Amino acid sequence: MGNYVGEYEQKKSVETEDKILGYLKLTGRTNIEDLSTKVGISSTQLIKILSIIRQKREFVFFIDGNEVYMPGYERERPKEVVKEIVKEVVKIPCKHCGYLSDPNAEKCPNCSAPIKA
Ligand SMILES: [Zn+2]
Repeated sequence: MGNYVGEYEQKKSVETEDKILGYLKLTGRTNIEDLSTKVGISSTQLIKILSIIRQKREFVFFIDGNEVYMPGYERERPKEVVKEIVKEVVKIPCKHCGYLSDPNAEKCPNCSAPIKA
């Protein structure tokens, strides 16, 4: 009867392995802690199971710091949106001719009158 427990544990571990691989395939790259929380095991257990999976299955994944990733399944990370900062140029009208010129300019480009008082 001792075999029953062994079989049960084996079944359970295969289930856990499938769960882990499922998440890995889905995300491509995930944080070890996040993954262990999702599967419902500790991160130490997860790392242990990952090495077991690596030994008996053909799935290729790598552990990179606190992340685990599966090449080929990695989603393209969303590119950071670079906000274009448009500098608002405030122009001031020339007191002499009304021409809008840069406030840093010394002279009005239109009539050469001094901008700064
Ligand atoms: Zn002017």
